Amino acid sequence: MSELENYLDPKEQASALPKEPGVYLMKNEAGVIIYIGKAKVLRNRVKSYFNKMKGRPNRLKHLIRQIVRIDYMVTTTEVEAFLLEASLIKKHKPRYNIRLKDDKAYPYIRCSLSEDYPRFYLSRRVINSKDAFYGPFTSGFLVRENMKFLNGLYKIRDCSNGFMKAQKRPCLTYEIKRCTAPCVDLVTQRKYRNQIKKAIDFLEGNTEEVLKDVERNMKAAAANEEFERAAECRDQLEAAKIILDKQTVVSRENIDRDVIACLGDEVGSLISMVHTRKGRVLGQKIHFLSRLQIGVEDQNLREKLLSFLNQYYVDNFIPDEVLLDQDLGRDLTRLLKNVLEERSGKPVNLVHIPTSMTASILNLAQKNAKEHLKKHIDKSNKQEEALKEIQSKLNLPDLPERIECYDISNFQGDQSVGSQVVFNGGVPSPEDYRIYKIKTVVGSDDFASLKEVLGRRLAHTEYQDPQLIVIDGGKGQLGKARAALKELGREDIPIVGLAKSREKGSFEDTDLERTYERFFLPGRSNPVVFKQYSEGLRVLTHIRDEAHRFAITHHRKLREKKSIETSFTSFPMFGPKRQERLKELLKNTKDWSSITLEQLKSETGAPTKVLKEVLLHIHGLVKKD
Ligand code: SF4
Repeated sequence: MSELENYLDPKEQASALPKEPGVYLMKNEAGVIIYIGKAKVLRNRVKSYFNKMKGRPNRLKHLIRQIVRIDYMVTTTEVEAFLLEASLIKKHKPRYNIRLKDDKAYPYIRCSLSEDYPRFYLSRRVINSKDAFYGPFTSGFLVRENMKFLNGLYKIRDCSNGFMKAQKRPCLTYEIKRCTAPCVDLVTQRKYRNQIKKAIDFLEGNTEEVLKDVERNMKAAAANEEFERAAECRDQLEAAKIILDKQTVVSRENIDRDVIACLGDEVGSLISMVHTRKGRVLGQKIHFLSRLQIGVEDQNLREKLLSFLNQYYVDNFIPDEVLLDQDLGRDLTRLLKNVLEERSGKPVNLVHIPTSMTASILNLAQKNAKEHLKKHIDKSNKQEEALKEIQSKLNLPDLPERIECYDISNFQGDQSVGSQVVFNGGVPSPEDYRIYKIKTVVGSDDFASLKEVLGRRLAHTEYQDPQLIVIDGGKGQLGKARAALKELGREDIPIVGLAKSREKGSFEDTDLERTYERFFLPGRSNPVVFKQYSEGLRVLTHIRDEAHRFAITHHRKLREKKSIETSFTSFPMFGPKRQERLKELLKNTKDWSSITLEQLKSETGAPTKVLKEVLLHIHGLVKKD
């Protein structure tokens, strides 16, 4: 591969591309992939980027200016290019592609049918395997609620494979009659599979039989004066009704369907999805696509929708039918249909004309889309107003589309860190948040620490430069930050110091007055004050508060870790190997309060009595913090 300096002009690279279908990867000076696209004819598609710049969205102009190198992969068909594009976008997450921010948010119930003794667990990816997937659900809570109900009702194991193999006798779950103990062969594989089959029946919507079964059991138990068992059946019945209440029945059809409405204008686009499984509405979800998506000039709502669906159906369940409110046209419809069938290995019906039965669901999706888009537009307008106000008040050369805020703090006198918080278009962009552990500064030296953090940040040329940097503090802090930028040769980036509002007057005064938040600008002695409650002020104080919150969260995590390291030696009955496994579990779990007894059991294999004590200890640590 040739050196960057020797690359041809991107326009010439485009002209040299083959006239074949394939995928192109645009890279910036640092060699980072910034955009991935697919094309029926690579050369024509890529050349069209460089035709004329006038009238194109800023975001597209910005992309084109950054292209230094264009790589490509030829495919035999357009369908192949389509499939390859989605997997490459997923892998490289290019800055300028449509990205599904919440593509991980859809949870499914996975049934491990590929195992001898299957179990249910939560999965956020649907993969091609012998396992069965049910969903998508709109929250992990619903998934857990369903699994708890099914495990209890059909006595399905809830342990990991490793834990099951290690068992010499059944665990507590068997004792409380919630598992038939396949671990020690107390149930035959055929019988256990039958339990699973019934549970799957429930998930697939054949719920009436299940409810009748439970009711029958309840009556029989009551007649035999097995009151405990009868009460258990009653609880199961109630749990089932609660679960089913959340799933409206819309038809008697035995198919799975996604109903999709798409709306958009120059502000942004929005996709509203309603998922029906065997005639029941399982959930609804809204996806926003950020405004002014990149693409060649003819990229319209249909193409955005196509891009979205291509990525969405990489990880999510592909139903029997997808009903769209847009006609993609014959070619694109055929292309998408082929792609979905290739991925799922089954026929997929892709339609845009609803039947009398599906019209009401499409209506629901469209209504949702309209309501959300309206709210989104109102919010966007306010954000734009805020950015314009900031630009004019702080006299900035450009609209501050990207604002970064920095805060230097330390943990118990050492472990100095710099936190970076980013707002894009006036709203938090958590994926751009960073924590920099200070490496070169000994002790507390804010100036040196800030210089290190800014230097490390600005060395990342793959990230767009901010149009404004906010530093928490008055003139002193601003001076230090400014000097740091000067030493880094980046005085061109506008910077402002935000000093907190404070109380005026003496301690004895009954009527203490508050000053406003003050903004200090380089070379100006008097601070700038925004109108109280203005949108611009709200954005700037929000980013400052967010930087504090982010730093505090980081320190809290450090404290939790330190606390656990020292405190687990107080469990002498917990041997070194189990302590190691426990530490590993804690290291890999973000929210310790979500750790359950079952999880501890499956990870460490320790006796339940000890684990209960450990669990109390962990939850106690979270609470204390
Ligand atoms: S270990 Fe417990 S949950 Fe797992 S199969 Fe045995 S009895 Fe069931």
